[in-house]
Amino acid sequence: RIAAHESLGAFLCTDADVALAQAAAADAWRAKGVTSTAGAGHTLLGVPIAHKDIFVTRDFPSTAGSKMLAGYRSPFDATVVSRLSASGAVTLGKLNCDEFAMGGSNENSAWFPARNPWDTSRITGGSSGGSAAAVAARLVPAATGTDTGGSVRQPAAFTGITGIKPTYGRCSRYGMIAFASSLDQAGPMARSALDCAHLLQAMSGFDPRDATSAEQAVPDFVAVTTARREGASAERPLQGLRIGLPREFFGEGVTADVLAATRAALAELEKLGATLVDVSLPRTELSIPVYYIIAPAEASSNLGRYDGVRYGHRAKDFKDLGEMYRRSRSEGFGPEVKRRIMIGTYVLSHGYYDAYYLQAQKLRRMIADDFQAAFAQCDLIAGPVAPTVARALGSQNDPVAEYLADIFTLPASLAGLPGISVPAGFGAGGLPVGLQLIGNYWQEGALLHAGHALQ
Ligand code: GLN
Repeated sequence: RIAAHESLGAFLCTDADVALAQAAAADAWRAKGVTSTAGAGHTLLGVPIAHKDIFVTRDFPSTAGSKMLAGYRSPFDATVVSRLSASGAVTLGKLNCDEFAMGGSNENSAWFPARNPWDTSRITGGSSGGSAAAVAARLVPAATGTDTGGSVRQPAAFTGITGIKPTYGRCSRYGMIAFASSLDQAGPMARSALDCAHLLQAMSGFDPRDATSAEQAVPDFVAVTTARREGASAERPLQGLRIGLPREFFGEGVTADVLAATRAALAELEKLGATLVDVSLPRTELSIPVYYIIAPAEASSNLGRYDGVRYGHRAKDFKDLGEMYRRSRSEGFGPEVKRRIMIGTYVLSHGYYDAYYLQAQKLRRMIADDFQAAFAQCDLIAGPVAPTVARALGSQNDPVAEYLADIFTLPASLAGLPGISVPAGFGAGGLPVGLQLIGNYWQEGALLHAGHALQ
């Protein structure tokens, strides 16, 4: 099926030998009486998955969608990868993404763009576009993605699947090729909230190899997702749940079709027992300049390691070391990555640090505080994932206009909060629309539960 749908550009590589060896190992476990219901450790026995190419893997090349890492093979597996393998999942290959996860369309992949299975002239969204295309086209039942500013939620929305970005610190970043370390989080993308719960279960947990991974107990996500709320009935499973609607998420800029689908999904949540309340996230608009200062700043630092010396692309002709660095980086990085490195080094430079970076950090704190004020009035927050349905491939040449489309996913990212995208219905052109639910810290279970009720 992957071969038959190669034109979607979802996969960057597959390896049947690796997959069959892992499948044989799963069979051997099963022969010993281990089943996928045998409890911790084997919950995904034999389930075929694939990883966003941001995760390093021993058995497959890892390029992060960049020429800089063409042909690179990691000597180790990312923690998320090894945990999913340990749970019995079978890895089919690596998935396309925007270069170093910088983008929202997958058009920034150095290799080729992923295409939306609902309309192949359209983007999948990004940066986890290959993951979204692969799940939506049923090439795999589930995949990993990463979300720095929306890269799990937005492509999930554009392709009609479910994706959750956990609380920052829930999943280890060890072996996730770094973009913006204070924002990067791994997340599962699958056909349903319940399937996401199964993956998240395996992916989560403290990892001593990641200094920002949290020592936070991991609940039984599958049990929480399917649990009966206190006072709820089978018909009204969300009875008593207060869902806050930030007025800034329903204003201008959102197209009428997306608004209609979002409102229809909210009406559905009401029917299921939830109460809708008005809340405000007054600094929503500021999340764009704040994110596009902090993320490039961290990226400029993280990408300093690609110097042509230790690994990655090295230019062929150079006179001296300086020219080797310069040429290797000029040849290896694509235009969006270069743009962000320039923005990042600018905002961190002497004289501008206080004016931009420090201000952005202060506002980031205020954005997080705004969420806490809103959560005093509600349990979850709901709104659109993106202002529009998936646009046509090649239809956006203005990087700033592209950044503006991240407005609804950036606030939760900056605050470190978990967010889920679940299918809300369809908009213009019959294209999928996602509903975003945002929870307080460590409340992934509540998001999965509400998403599951809706499905
Ligand atoms: N679209 C955002 C960006 O370009 C988010 C990317 C992401 O979450 N990796 O930075």
